[in-house]
Amino acid sequence: MNAELISVGTELLLGEILNTNAQFLATELAKLGISVYYQTTVGDNPARLTDAVKIALNRSDMVILTGGLGPTADDLTKETVAEYFGLKLIRDKRSEQRIKDYFSRINANTVPSNFKQADMPEGCIILDNNNGTAPGGIIEKDGKIAVFLPGPPFEMVAMYKEGVYPYLSEKCTEQLYSREIQTFGIGESRLEDMLKPIMENQTDPTIAPYAKESGVMLRLTTKAHTQQEADDRFNPVEEEIKRIAGDIIFGYGEEQLQDAVYKLLKEKNIKIATAESCTGGMMGEFLTSVSGISSYYEMGVVTYSNDMKEKLLGVSHDTLEKYGAVSEQTAKEMAVGVLRASEADIGIGITGIAGPTGGTDEKPVGLVYVGLADSKGTVTFRELRLNGSRERIRRITVKNALNMVRMHIKETF
Ligand code: AMP
Ligand code: MG
Repeated sequence: MNAELISVGTELLLGEILNTNAQFLATELAKLGISVYYQTTVGDNPARLTDAVKIALNRSDMVILTGGLGPTADDLTKETVAEYFGLKLIRDKRSEQRIKDYFSRINANTVPSNFKQADMPEGCIILDNNNGTAPGGIIEKDGKIAVFLPGPPFEMVAMYKEGVYPYLSEKCTEQLYSREIQTFGIGESRLEDMLKPIMENQTDPTIAPYAKESGVMLRLTTKAHTQQEADDRFNPVEEEIKRIAGDIIFGYGEEQLQDAVYKLLKEKNIKIATAESCTGGMMGEFLTSVSGISSYYEMGVVTYSNDMKEKLLGVSHDTLEKYGAVSEQTAKEMAVGVLRASEADIGIGITGIAGPTGGTDEKPVGLVYVGLADSKGTVTFRELRLNGSRERIRRITVKNALNMVRMHIKETF
């Protein structure tokens, strides 16, 4: 089934309010596998609204209108839709009573125009409004469906969930399912290039990459009757992605790198400690954002000055003199130092130039070293060359460091 949305209201055209109704409905219909091909916004003008309805119902199976159900003369959605289908408006006694009850509940008097809201196209399915006065409705005629809902988002959303969703989900035996695969370590264009063979031949599920600040999210989407049916289609594609791109998948949905690291630390029952310079404790912040990490995160120190790198971590004076604070050697000695102090299983040392000042030709802004030492005697490092703002460089450094930990645990422990 395909559908379109018509948002009614001059205030929308004037940009006075944001069209959140369209956003909500588009998201919901997508979940049901209903394709939304057009969205129209039209003012409170009967002629133009009539045109919009005609065009929409000519080319689509269903139209959902929001707004224009108010009690005043400029609210004309229901009237226009009824006229399109050649239906009379008939006073609905139940809705009339509900409006009376509503006003007595809020202790206010009604005026005759309030009851205009109880006039409904004959034969339509009436959708009760539990949060306001205007009922909504569903008209099914000549193979077409028109749904009209009140404008206030609070009323519209509730009515959709209570009345429209049950109606539509019965019509849509297949729904849209997706799996969001979070990856880190390969940029969007290169990943797309690597996955081209499967992306090109893959129509179900579809694969769409979305670049995030650092990693890439791959969204697999399919129409299926059940989650199981969808999973059965997703699994082989995910396996194929792993085969081509390697160990880049760190999680699903909302999962972050620190969640992946936490899971691995827990699974292997090992501990980590961090020594940070340019990231100023951000790696510790990321790690401690995960509930339960306390059993696996031993300590984090911020050693900003050279002096403290020596005194607290035992980085050698010679190393600092000879290679500088931002160097592979210093990063490794920081990692070794914090590993020794904490007696954890993995130590991380981070040192770099976050900018925007402080860069040189030899050591430009964005040059970062992440050192890693472990209880098995491994001492290794990664050199990063990042760009962007100070904030971005620091954040992406931490993500790389977390990913380095993730990979190291998988390979070594
Ligand atoms: P109406 O049903 O046309 O009287 O709309 C009543 C109120 O609902 C408007 O004044 C807006 O504040 C809000 N509203 C109407 N349409 C939308 C929309 N598409 N998105 C967000 N809010 C809306
Ligand atoms: Mg309006």
